[in-house]
Amino acid sequence: MSTVTYAGFPRIGLKRELKRALEAHWSGELDAASLLETARTLRARHWQLGRDAGAGVVPSNDFSLYDHVLDTAVLFDAIPARYRPVFAKDPLAGYFAMARGHKRDGFDLHALEMTKWFDTNYHYLVPELEARQKFRLVGDKPVAEFLEARALGHRARPVLVGPVTFLLLSKTVDDSDRLALLDALLPAYAELLQKLAAAGADWVQLDEPCLVLDLDAATHAAYRKAYAALAAAGGPKILLATYFGALGDNLALAASLPVAGLHVDLVRAPQQLDTVLAALPADRVLSAGVIDGRNVWRSRPNAVLARLHQAQDRVGSEQLWIAPSCSLLHVPIDIEAETALDPTRRATMAFARQKLEELRVYADALAGQTEAAAALQAQQTLLDHQAEHVGVKNPAVRARLHAISPQMALRRSPYATRRVAQAEALTLPPLPTTTIGSFPQTEEVRKARAAHRAGKLDDASYEARIKAEVERVIRFQERIGLDVLVHGEPERNDMVEYFGEQLDGFLFTKLGWVQSYGSRCVKPPVIWGDVARPQPMTVTWATYAQSLTPKPVKGMLTGPVTMLQWSFVRDDLPRETVCHEIALALRDEVHDLEAAGIQVIQIDEPAFREGLPLRRAEWPAYLAWAVECFRITAGGVRDTTQIHTHMCYSEFNDIIEAVAAMDADVISIETSRSRMELLDAFVRFKYPNGIGPGVYDIHSPRVPAKAEMTELVHKALKVLRPDQLWINPDCGLKTRRWAEVEPALEHMAASARELRGEITV
Ligand code: GLN
Ligand code: ZN
Repeated sequence: MSTVTYAGFPRIGLKRELKRALEAHWSGELDAASLLETARTLRARHWQLGRDAGAGVVPSNDFSLYDHVLDTAVLFDAIPARYRPVFAKDPLAGYFAMARGHKRDGFDLHALEMTKWFDTNYHYLVPELEARQKFRLVGDKPVAEFLEARALGHRARPVLVGPVTFLLLSKTVDDSDRLALLDALLPAYAELLQKLAAAGADWVQLDEPCLVLDLDAATHAAYRKAYAALAAAGGPKILLATYFGALGDNLALAASLPVAGLHVDLVRAPQQLDTVLAALPADRVLSAGVIDGRNVWRSRPNAVLARLHQAQDRVGSEQLWIAPSCSLLHVPIDIEAETALDPTRRATMAFARQKLEELRVYADALAGQTEAAAALQAQQTLLDHQAEHVGVKNPAVRARLHAISPQMALRRSPYATRRVAQAEALTLPPLPTTTIGSFPQTEEVRKARAAHRAGKLDDASYEARIKAEVERVIRFQERIGLDVLVHGEPERNDMVEYFGEQLDGFLFTKLGWVQSYGSRCVKPPVIWGDVARPQPMTVTWATYAQSLTPKPVKGMLTGPVTMLQWSFVRDDLPRETVCHEIALALRDEVHDLEAAGIQVIQIDEPAFREGLPLRRAEWPAYLAWAVECFRITAGGVRDTTQIHTHMCYSEFNDIIEAVAAMDADVISIETSRSRMELLDAFVRFKYPNGIGPGVYDIHSPRVPAKAEMTELVHKALKVLRPDQLWINPDCGLKTRRWAEVEPALEHMAASARELRGEITV
């Protein structure tokens, strides 16, 4: 009979127990022993949960106190010199120093750089290596956690980041070739594998998700070398795990590596089953990732069963493992905990625990158990009828989707014409100043919002408090002389949640946490039905703010791509269709804002870049619909209405054409942290419309001096025209304190005034 297993489980705990313990430890309230005890308890609970759900083999070493890539670096002693003194005193403190920085006992260390784990919202720490890097097996976490699982009576399979993926995810500080370090790294891996075998592990899982990326010949060679060496090491049998996409042109390579099993993602890439089965040598185990480890829906039994039967016919039930597509790290733990959710909705959803239970039923059905087959039939029927549930299909929305015309994605006139019309309507000075939207979210504002939510503060009092805050923000901006004002977003907790709560088709969970990095979790909204806007969402606050001042106030919306990207999205419609639905709803909001007299409207798209597919060949298709959705949102307004957008990251080089194609009148971007480095993109490509490269790094409490901002603008003026330049911070100010924001924005406004004297437009 086939084995049910999984590549990894969420670490944070149903009630975010790990988060609490970590944060208590960092603030000195919880000692190391108690933190480690919490971690141990969570591991034990999660293994038991996996086993109770029906898994035959559970993963070990998938747990991490902070991040599994950091764990790997520390395990092999890839610890940059600056952290070593902290490690020498206290290894746990050293580990957290690499994760979060360390500022005490005379140390002032920055954390390692953090970046996104493939196309997920999980962030890993980027190991820092150098040309003569030495690796040594110094830790025993994988062995210890394997033994811990076994002592609790589980069959465990240790999980490790594979050596090639580890190197590819690292960076060298001296720009030397990462893969050149393979020879140095492999003996340490080999030693670890031997220790795992000695501890009794019969299998080990080596995660090589880089095998779904575009790889060059040198990387292929590295894979061959690495796995030949590991096969010769005499460790446990190796399961080579790939996920987040199709192996594609790396399939022949993956199938040829001397490993005992291959895990493939058949959710993102169901079409690869035929080719994988054809390529896989007969003696291999196939771990079939048939249910979605990245989303929250129950699987569709007819499709899954067909795949499993096909696989079983070819490899036989003993060599077939049934698993989620990837680690369950990316989904919440238990939908049963969502007691407030409508039960019919809940019945269509599966979090980590339910996914394992589903796998069990598939395995039983494959083995011929009629009860299991009947359960799957019932699940299929349930999902078939899902479309009949009120709200899943909204005929008005569907009609609008069909009626989308190319005209809807167009402004009335080209930018050159709009520019003149806007200059007349808005009468802004050269180098206009503005901010990105949010102002400091004071304790008072947060409390008022929480009390209102909890029903402890009535609508009228809440409104009065928010109005007072808006007025304070407006008066401040007027006083320091900013040009395009904002209302400050005091009524918003989160830029997606705020809109999701007002749109049809979204639902929110209570405990649906997913780890973003370290102790940080997000609770993504769930898009389950057609998205529609029953009524205006932001017009009241925007018009209130505008009523206070003769200066233009910017309306503030979260864009369709970001709404999509930061949610769990229904799986019965293509993502681009859902994005179009959101775009239509937001388009109505844009029009209502315009009709209410708002002349400047910002549509934030901070997640635009992170939606990019992992394979370059798929970029154009994504960019085409993402740009179109933005344009539909912004389309149709008068030439005099100025559309802004905002993106807060600094890698524009490879998407700059698409960003220009969005045709926003003004874009604000993050640049100050990289000291305007990103402007390199604008040397190659002449960005046509208005642009505000950030001059104030809002991620830091530091207050920049006027001269620093002026210098950044001078740098920007080397590649941008003075008549297209705006002056603004990198991002919203919500996480900063007024004591920092006040002087910083005063300096910014003063810098702009000074610069206006220097330039000619
Ligand atoms: N308007 C939002 C703010 O100012 C934008 C946030 C973001 O880019 N992430 O907070
Ligand atoms: Zn931002």
